[in-house]
Amino acid sequence: MSDMQPFAAEVGRVLDLVINSLYTHREIFLRELVSNASDACDKLRYESLSRPELLGDRPDLEIRIVADKEKGTLTVADDGIGMDKDELADNLGTVARSGTARFAEALSGDAKADSQLIGRFGVGFYAAFMVADEIAVFSRKAGTETTWVWRSDGRSGFAIDESDAQIARGTAVVLKLKDDAKEFLEDHRLKHLVRTYSDHVAFPIRLGAPGDAPGEQSGEPEQINRASALWRRPKSEITEEEYTEFYHHTAHAFDEPFARLHFSVEGTLAYVGLLFVPSTAPFDLYDPARKHGIKLYVKRVFITDQLHELMPRYLRFVAGVVDSEDLQLNVSRETLQKDVVVAKIRQALVRRVLDELERIAGKQGEEGIPDYDAFWEQFGAVLKEGLYEDRENRERLFKLARFRSTAGDGWVSLSDYVGRMKPGQEAILTISGDNAEALMGSPQLESAKAKSVEVLLLTDAIDDFWLPTVGDYEEKPFKSLTRDAVDLSTIDAAEADAPADEKAEDPTADRLLARMKLTLGDAVKDVRRSKRLTDSAVCLVAEEGGFDLHFERFLKQHNQLAGLGGRILEVNVEHPLIRSMAAALPAEGEPPAEVEELTRLLLDQARVIEGEPLPDPGAFSRRMSKLLEASFKPAA
Ligand code: ADP
Ligand code: MG
Repeated sequence: MSDMQPFAAEVGRVLDLVINSLYTHREIFLRELVSNASDACDKLRYESLSRPELLGDRPDLEIRIVADKEKGTLTVADDGIGMDKDELADNLGTVARSGTARFAEALSGDAKADSQLIGRFGVGFYAAFMVADEIAVFSRKAGTETTWVWRSDGRSGFAIDESDAQIARGTAVVLKLKDDAKEFLEDHRLKHLVRTYSDHVAFPIRLGAPGDAPGEQSGEPEQINRASALWRRPKSEITEEEYTEFYHHTAHAFDEPFARLHFSVEGTLAYVGLLFVPSTAPFDLYDPARKHGIKLYVKRVFITDQLHELMPRYLRFVAGVVDSEDLQLNVSRETLQKDVVVAKIRQALVRRVLDELERIAGKQGEEGIPDYDAFWEQFGAVLKEGLYEDRENRERLFKLARFRSTAGDGWVSLSDYVGRMKPGQEAILTISGDNAEALMGSPQLESAKAKSVEVLLLTDAIDDFWLPTVGDYEEKPFKSLTRDAVDLSTIDAAEADAPADEKAEDPTADRLLARMKLTLGDAVKDVRRSKRLTDSAVCLVAEEGGFDLHFERFLKQHNQLAGLGGRILEVNVEHPLIRSMAAALPAEGEPPAEVEELTRLLLDQARVIEGEPLPDPGAFSRRMSKLLEASFKPAA
């Protein structure tokens, strides 16, 4: 035997996690091994389209389960693509697909929930160590002559050697079962597990007695799954459980799907689709490497799950199968990318998904209809990417979009918002920030609040990207309260106690503003009267036409900007403090030092409210202390 190679560090961790946290659901190991066997058969079938000789004298692909009670071993074997020496080391010695760290974070401690995670993180193979003391993986890659064997006890590492036993093709995973896992040698247990978890697998799964070589069978093996392409069966014959199990398998997901679309299209373009919208966001939804989960089949032959042209990025959470009658079987992925048929299918899939979401959204609250708001909470931020990526469907996406607003805790649609606009209100008002609660306290909202004008609270990073590009919704422009000139004076005051607009211009206020500007110099682009404040003395806004405040901070955090750009300090000239400051200015000559100090303090205060760094915190706190000292009068 060759020397033991250590596992990559993360594999050790995965093994620990898997073995300790999933123990009560250890039967899932079988589902994972069968799923790998099925993937391997899919890959070979696809390869054989261009290289038919790979199939050799075993053109019919199958999966075999062999229980050997004498030896205490359970084998899951396939006629699939197989692995050579390097592939064995890479695939079964590292965690290829995704980070173990995230797997560990995602574990909740609840074995049932955690057992659902394992397939999703691309660590399914290792689940077999829950039931086995030792695993031997015999594999012979299609088109090669050598059988390799990978062995491991799941602790110290693994060794790979040339195998004495030869297999015809594919892989045989031989588990030396632990003493307490002998139940997995019983036929009835194995049949039950396959029917529960793997019935839809498109290749026959046969259960039989051990034969000569690893993974071979003797006697008359029994096929224990249905092995038909589920999406090709009539809807009326498919149970809810079968659909859900299929979804779990294809999407590597374990939630109940939020929506399901099963359709068959005939005519110039013929294809069948079975698509699912998940109800919970997959862990890697925002991973730039994440692509949609649609598998492309051509006439029932799996072609690829990497054809990204099948779905736009903003629908990357959609999973399922598309099976086309029109595409050429043996074309390369590169050719497919440019195929007009693919482009047409994509367009139709998008339309169907949006139709279905619209239908569900339209029935919000009705009996038997899933909760659209809950869906939006999970996937809204992703769907909103479509607002700038997919102009053609923008209006439809606007209809689907939901927002937080100053009107209450619930989700608001744009048509709700527009329906509630005040007479005289011309724009859809927005404000962006990190969270709705903090935004509710923004000074820039004051005057809108005083007039009971609703404002949308935008808290997803993506909002800053689509807003500048979309223009209007139903001829109503979007206006940001932290950037755009917003004039609420045209709106009828809703409450009697709302402040009256357009006070007579007060020349001393203008003098104060000019003075403040002089004091602040380059620290601000401008100092001007505010129409958005009622209670606060000052606030910051961005320059119209420039980046909005929140977006600029976002860019800076992500090192996309060297520094924050110019800000405008808006001043509430009705505020008592501002009035006193104005009154303190002499008709001519230098103002008292306090006015300058207060001006600087006010700017810093506005920065604090925005969550922006103070350029000189020391100076801020000295000014503040001085002011506090002066104002504190101990009780006599
Ligand atoms: P995943 O299936 O999510 O990739 P697994 O841990 O289940 O993660 O398997 C790791 C990898 O090992 C697979 O991606 C595949 O490349 C390889 N593999 C596992 N089982 C087989 C098999 N029966 N035939 C061929 N390759 C396999
Ligand atoms: Mg797997």
